[in-house]
Parts: sequence; C-alpha cells; structure tokens
Amino acid sequence: MSELKDAYGLNELKSLLKNWQTMLGLSDWDIKLRWSGYEIACTGDKAQVEFVAGDLTAVIKLLHPQARPPDSFVPLQAEDDLMHELLHLVFVHQRQPEGTLESVVFEQALHKTGRAIVRLHVDNQRNNTGSKGAE
Ligand SMILES: [Zn+2]
Repeated sequence: MSELKDAYGLNELKSLLKNWQTMLGLSDWDIKLRWSGYEIACTGDKAQVEFVAGDLTAVIKLLHPQARPPDSFVPLQAEDDLMHELLHLVFVHQRQPEGTLESVVFEQALHKTGRAIVRLHVDNQRNNTGSKGAE
C-alpha cells in the first residue's frame, strides 16, 4: 500500500492542483483534495467533485490507488482524473442533466480534453528538462 502511496502521493497531487488551478483560471476557488475509497468505488467512478458554485468551494475525491483494480493504476491516471474534475469547475455553468446523451458526450469531451492537456504538459516538461547533454 505505502509503495503506491509514496509513488504518487497526495501531497504531489495537491501541488499539481495548485498549478492547474492557476493555469485554468480557478485560483479564486477553495478546492480540497482527498483520497477516497469505497464511497466512490461503489459508484464506478474514479473521481468525483462536489462543489458550491456560489461559494467557489469544492472537494475533489480521487479513488485511492489501492481501491483501483490491480494493474490499472498508472501515475498519470490520477492527474487525468484530477484534471477531469477541475474541468467540471471550469464548465460549472454548462452542466448537463445526468443520464442524458448530452451528459455522456460532455463527460467524454472533458475526459479527452483533460487527458490531452495533461499529456501536453508532461511532454512540455520533458522537453524543458530533457536530454540537453546528449546533443
Ligand atoms: Zn465528469
């Protein structure tokens, strides 16, 4: 357990959260981040966000690596999930009624967009810190 936890700790995710908040224009939100287990695992979700838009407060719950199916946890997945929930806050006034085709399409759009943003960011970091000595 502690192996996975240390490999991708909540503190690291919290610092990613701060960076993403700034980049996504969500700095005025008070966003808490915590691991979650059974309570969201039983819904089939890997992450959830609860928020009060009027107060600009939110709690993002990420499914703990231990609660995920074996072999399914990769480090970027937690950041993907974090990004997905943050995009819900970016589009807070674009909510679709649950169970509709629109909500399914909206969820897919957030998933694809979030994944692309995280990959671009990681690639960008690699290029900036990468193998300059090799040339
Ligand atoms: Zn979603």
